[in-house]
Amino acid sequence: MTSPNTAAETAGTTLTMTAAFEGIEGSYSHAVLGAYAQRRGVTFAPLGCASYRPVAHAVLSGRADLGLLPIDNAIAGTIREGYDTLAEYELDLLAEITMRMEHRLLGVPGATLEGLREIDSHPIVLAECGRFLSTLPDVRRVPVPDTGIAARDVAAAGDPSRGAIASSEAAQRYGLVELAATIADHPDNFTRFILFRAPNAQGPAAEFEPAEAYADRKTSIVFAVPDLPGALGRALSVFGAHGLNVSKLDSKSRLGADSQYAFYADVDGDVRDEGFAMALQELRDVTVALHVIGTYDAATAPPRIRREPGVIVDTAPAAIPAPAKVSFPRAQRQGEHARSRVAVGNVIVGDGNFVIIGGPCSVESREQILATADAVAAAGGVMLRGGAFKPRTSPYAFQGLGWEGVALLAEASRASGLPTVSEVMSIDQVERMAASVDLLQIGARNMQNFDLLKAVGKTARPVLLKRGMAASIDELLAAAEYILSEGNPNVILCERGIRTFETATRNTLDLSAVPVLRERTHLPVMVDPSHGVGVRRWIGPLCRAAKAVGAHGLLIEVHPNPAEAKCDADQALTFSDFAQIVRELATIPTMT
Ligand code: PEP
Ligand code: MN
Repeated sequence: MTSPNTAAETAGTTLTMTAAFEGIEGSYSHAVLGAYAQRRGVTFAPLGCASYRPVAHAVLSGRADLGLLPIDNAIAGTIREGYDTLAEYELDLLAEITMRMEHRLLGVPGATLEGLREIDSHPIVLAECGRFLSTLPDVRRVPVPDTGIAARDVAAAGDPSRGAIASSEAAQRYGLVELAATIADHPDNFTRFILFRAPNAQGPAAEFEPAEAYADRKTSIVFAVPDLPGALGRALSVFGAHGLNVSKLDSKSRLGADSQYAFYADVDGDVRDEGFAMALQELRDVTVALHVIGTYDAATAPPRIRREPGVIVDTAPAAIPAPAKVSFPRAQRQGEHARSRVAVGNVIVGDGNFVIIGGPCSVESREQILATADAVAAAGGVMLRGGAFKPRTSPYAFQGLGWEGVALLAEASRASGLPTVSEVMSIDQVERMAASVDLLQIGARNMQNFDLLKAVGKTARPVLLKRGMAASIDELLAAAEYILSEGNPNVILCERGIRTFETATRNTLDLSAVPVLRERTHLPVMVDPSHGVGVRRWIGPLCRAAKAVGAHGLLIEVHPNPAEAKCDADQALTFSDFAQIVRELATIPTMT
């Protein structure tokens, strides 16, 4: 719906209001106020406060007309101090404002990512960037009151070993340069803020339309129940019985009250509506405390990255004896341990959910990998591939971008929300790769590099083990056994073509390995038709065949401009070829 106008807007004058927020100029709260004022055609005079409660004090004492506080973040969760402050004071809530947080790592001019030893930011913001920060193990994380202060202080210190996580706007304001972008763990990184005024507000704030003026309203409450079986269920069933949707629920122990739990809940609707009031009446009977924080204009949820939930189907066929020449007790399929599932980030491989991984043979540039990640996600791919260390037949061929490629792949993952797979070629790369890649690939040429298998077996990261081009199925299973026996149960096998006398295709894609492996092992089996045939136009049919024969997923090479690919150009698909193949695959049933 469109926002109703304030009296001043209708009269054609600009309303100026003092708006209190936590932080200084350049903080996200400051930016939110600026964007909201612009959208509403009003002018805010921002009043920075040192922490959350002083924002409420400024409003209640009349020093500010409005106040703004953050209450939750999509990655880091509830911002307790925001809810607590709103709950503690009598305030008139007006609107929620949801903002996508686009964090940047900033430094003074001349600073480099490698040279950083300390990164300052708001503690919630540091939590939102946990995956990125774990790729910088030698860097100390320093919590400071807000992102504006982080940027200001780093700029004032002029020290190239210090960085700040803040917005691009903060970079401009304080003369900092951007060392890394898209550093939050997920692109759907939204923070919700609440705009409020004093009850019975006088002056300009009185002209700001109340929450009732809006069609969609939301109410925040805090309630407490005894720590007993069924107590929370009884409270929640009241909302269900009145057709009220609970859009957020978060628990915390109730300080000073033994054996009670408090919950913050956001419920769609307005306390002044009859049905809502009745629900609250009933809720009082099943709770030990109930406090309505307030009703406010509910923001339209911003668009999110689309994700299809996987269908979980588990079959547990009887034990199958493996007529093996080598022994692989851990890889062998038996009894109830019939089918393993391997979680790679938010993707489950091996559960009757068909997983499509797309991406270039090698990461070549920031533009290339970001564009490919977008195209893969848009087409329905759920994971991004990209080699940073490339095993090339000739030492003169492009060897990959190395660690720079790993960092670019991680950035593309954060920007698209897709987990990543990349090849690890040597033992000394394993630990650092495991910090930023979601699925470690062991390439065909390294399938029997036993020390490397042991090294990835010691990590907690899932491993994609490719079949060697001259390896038998039993040898592939014995290689998997090396990883499993080191304690890492998360192994996915990959058929990628073997060497035969046939020269019409790059390799001979051995699709018969899929049913054989499904019979012999509980590990998920993927197929890589790109390396299997090596010729663009035959990849589509082999993708369909692989799905039909029972593969749990596909690894497919795709490139923004296949003709220019620095590696495996003949087999790289265009974005539209890739999207077409994904559409065609939907017509083939997934084998469970
Ligand atoms: C790759 O996936 O780009 C690759 C090098 O694969 P393989 O090890 O199967 O040749
Ligand atoms: Mn390749």
